[in-house]
Amino acid sequence: MKVAYLEARCRELEGMVGKNSQNSSKHPSSDGYQKPNKSDSPQDDSTNGKNSDSQQQSPTPKSLRQSSDNKAGCQKGHKGNCLKSVDNPDYVVYHTLLECHDCHTSLLDVEPLKHIERQVFEWGKPGCPEVTAHRAEVKVCSCGHHNQAAFPEGVTAAVQYGPSTRAMAVYLNQYHFIPYKRVSEYFHTVHNMSLSAGSVANFVAATYENLASTEQVIKDALKGTPVAGSDETGMRVDGDLWWLHILRDDQWTLYHLAEKRGCEGMDAMGILLTFTGVLVHDHWKPYFTYAAVHVLCNAHHLRELQGVVDRDANQLALRLMKLLRLSWHYCKGFNTIGMLQMPSVLQERIIEDIYDRVLKHALAKEAADMERQRQELGRKKVKRTKAYNLFKRLIDFKEETLRFMTDFTIPFDNNGSERDARMAKLKQKISGCFRSEDGGSLFTRIRSYVSSAKENYGNLPLLGAE
Ligand SMILES: [Zn+2]
Repeated sequence: MKVAYLEARCRELEGMVGKNSQNSSKHPSSDGYQKPNKSDSPQDDSTNGKNSDSQQQSPTPKSLRQSSDNKAGCQKGHKGNCLKSVDNPDYVVYHTLLECHDCHTSLLDVEPLKHIERQVFEWGKPGCPEVTAHRAEVKVCSCGHHNQAAFPEGVTAAVQYGPSTRAMAVYLNQYHFIPYKRVSEYFHTVHNMSLSAGSVANFVAATYENLASTEQVIKDALKGTPVAGSDETGMRVDGDLWWLHILRDDQWTLYHLAEKRGCEGMDAMGILLTFTGVLVHDHWKPYFTYAAVHVLCNAHHLRELQGVVDRDANQLALRLMKLLRLSWHYCKGFNTIGMLQMPSVLQERIIEDIYDRVLKHALAKEAADMERQRQELGRKKVKRTKAYNLFKRLIDFKEETLRFMTDFTIPFDNNGSERDARMAKLKQKISGCFRSEDGGSLFTRIRSYVSSAKENYGNLPLLGAE
């Protein structure tokens, strides 16, 4: 009787685990990392994610879409949507010729033979793009030389989009994750501009090239920063799991995409190997291979402690949470009146003393609970509880946990880096995986720029501008 019931219940639970957004009415966000792999074979549906062993092995979801042999992008015979010049531009700028390029005779009194016109389109009021016509004089000198006045830098084609339009397209696509097609639609609907999805892709590629030196500026700034935060998160590239590393301070943010999660990717960033400042992180082991001054994120500690409180109603964990929060407010209070350290080491000692005592009790209590469990089960040893591991870690890494008290320039948590990582996650949710490593590199470089530019108004050139 009981066996039959348990079997039925087991089948029901197995059924729940096997459900995903593509075979039930479950929401896509509940799929997590379980997206189809490149190999996509039923035997090979092990994830290479960080939780591969702990995650449930649900069947690999399959897309209902049939793939064609066509290449991605425009197909043969596709009618282009090219920009056409207008008869009545909003602004006309004349570029005059003062002297002959060859013999330097003054051409002021010479009538232009003709003008060569190039038009630049910019978004303006909704529905009406602003067109600036640049007209360059062509004059023939008495020496016979044909002269043409120069166009402004960047004005290179008979018709083209201006820097603000290009920057806006790149910003919407790369920072706000609006796909090429929909950026194109936005310009068409709101600004009456027939900007194609292909043009947006071209602007993004050009911006990537233009930002090469800016990326170096960000790297150089972070190399010398006194306090940096670091985080990492999984990103899908062409069906495989890659890792996005984030390094930031309060002015600069650098994203880096690496095939492997670990030191290799962070070494490739080229900063941490020689970094000697304070590095705030979430206790991921590879960070400790670097010679930085380590600081552990207390937002993580608070979350883990909350987990212990929720699971076991552990009062000592609750006390520890209160202590951490109070100490942080205490430090912030001194900091607001311009202090960078506590007025006396005595206050620090008192907090440390409470920290030590609460953790000692908490660890001893967990150890006793584990021992009782071991005896009840009659085993040689039992698995250490999550709470035990957490308390042990907080004791072993006390200095790294409480460093915010000794120097108020050190943050309490790593929320800045985590916020940056979360935004990258959002990109993945909206656009799925990067089709290639190149797509990932575009994203990381442009995003590094926009994130840094937000904190550095005026210190960085305009996006997309030359
Ligand atoms: Zn001449």
